[in-house]
Amino acid sequence: MSSTTLDASTLGTRIDGVLQRTPTGLLIGGHWREASDGGTFDVENPATGEVLATLASATREDAQAAMDAAADAQEYWARTSSRSRSEILRRAFDLVQERAEDLALLMTLEMGKPFPEALGEVKYGGGVLRGVSEEAGRGYGRDSEAPEGTLRMLVKRKPVGPCLLITPWNFPLAMAARKVAPAVAAGCTMVLKPARLTPLTSQYFAQLMIDAGLPPGVLNVVASASAGNVSEPILADPRLRKISFTGSTPVGKQLMKLATDNVLRTSMELGGNGPLIVFEDADIDKAVAGAMAAKMRNMGEACTAANRLLVHEDVAEEFVTELAARMSALTVGDGTREGVDVGPLVEAKARDSVEEFVKEAVDGGARVVVGGSRVNGPGYFFQPTLLTNVSRDARVIREEVFGPVAPVITFATEDEAVELANSTEYGLASYVFTENISRGLRIGDRIEFGLMGLNVGVISNAAAPFGGVKQSGIGREGGAEGIAEYTTLQYVGIENPWDAA
Ligand code: NAP
Repeated sequence: MSSTTLDASTLGTRIDGVLQRTPTGLLIGGHWREASDGGTFDVENPATGEVLATLASATREDAQAAMDAAADAQEYWARTSSRSRSEILRRAFDLVQERAEDLALLMTLEMGKPFPEALGEVKYGGGVLRGVSEEAGRGYGRDSEAPEGTLRMLVKRKPVGPCLLITPWNFPLAMAARKVAPAVAAGCTMVLKPARLTPLTSQYFAQLMIDAGLPPGVLNVVASASAGNVSEPILADPRLRKISFTGSTPVGKQLMKLATDNVLRTSMELGGNGPLIVFEDADIDKAVAGAMAAKMRNMGEACTAANRLLVHEDVAEEFVTELAARMSALTVGDGTREGVDVGPLVEAKARDSVEEFVKEAVDGGARVVVGGSRVNGPGYFFQPTLLTNVSRDARVIREEVFGPVAPVITFATEDEAVELANSTEYGLASYVFTENISRGLRIGDRIEFGLMGLNVGVISNAAAPFGGVKQSGIGREGGAEGIAEYTTLQYVGIENPWDAA
């Protein structure tokens, strides 16, 4: 069991230790190496602005070499048994447990989330590895007869082939595990490009996968200061079969366009603008607890964040009063410190953007109930912020905020709540609070979101199919569905054995 706090007296030594254990090169064909032009980039701690590490920055040639390594390993890897792939994932799960504090500390350092939250992500990432390990090998096909009796029909699952995996900075371990584990289980080789802001966790995780027994070339990792250096040559390579991307909708659209040339399989986990609906018959304590979890987790930097709190007018005052009390009690600070609830935003640009959202809302008539301002540095902190009287046209309602800002708008009827919830191009996470279960299920039928929490504010689970509709994406990660995304079907029509008799 990992300690949920870091001892301040030994923190410096622990940080030095974990950084030393984190590879800084490019992982290509089983070896960590420098960039072909010797180029590097720095990774910063958003709580202090200090440089944590300097990593090799992949060039286009390095990306091509990573693609070559993935393509070379594909046939061998596809022929390994699903049992052996499952066992590698199980060993990786064990190693994640053993190295949980290293992984959590790295995430706190490079991304900013408080250490206990980072440990929660380690638990989730480990859960993905264990869950996929258990599911590997269960991708059964079928054997049937053609209705006319003319053929025996064998339908089998095969690995889709080499994959390009691109991950965002907000959940460095969870997002990498959700792509790497099902690709491993299905028998695909891969090139992983982690986010420039938070590559250290992926570097550490890749070494952990090697330690768990993953053969050379199956997982190649190419961090780069230039995302295009990696994505462009690899997407143009005819040996690539799939891209799995998690990140913003604009970048996802761009990558989908590039993916059309080679008609690639695409999985897109994109942005969100989640509604959290509180009906007049909700348990308000439960709704407030759900809103805290759905809005404040990860400093609000989550695609699943409740971005818009839609509250029935009869309970709005009670809800806002309770939520304000909970939000005011949060401690903002460096996530390595004990008792901190809200860490820094990931970079200065992110903090400035949140500030702009709040300013525009206030200029449009919103009332600041809690917070509302940046916290002076070093580091990129923003106060937990609760806004009421927010215009329905405000940018803070229409766009994904990615910060600790909770705007409340009120509604009078169920139809209005549904219309408000659906009035976005996104469709990832949604949350509904009502003690009337029929109403809850009815709302699920009426709202266009890939995920819905009913009386609960955290719904991600390694065993569940996670993903969005509309401009929030295509495909699912997690559960058996997540592995199926890395497989393709082959149908073999076989001469009816009785015809041959
Ligand atoms: P982002 O800017 O789209 O970046 C995501 C990844 O794409 C990073 O690795 C980034 O590399 C790379 N990238 C950026 N431009 C690229 C290009 N032209 N070609 C190839 N790769 C490119 O998103 P982010 O700011 O890191 O993440 C936040 C977004 O992710 C939010 O919209 C959030 O909702 C979404 N998200 C969705 C899910 C989900 O499951 N649906 C989960 C988590 C996050 P660099 O780091 O080098 O720019």
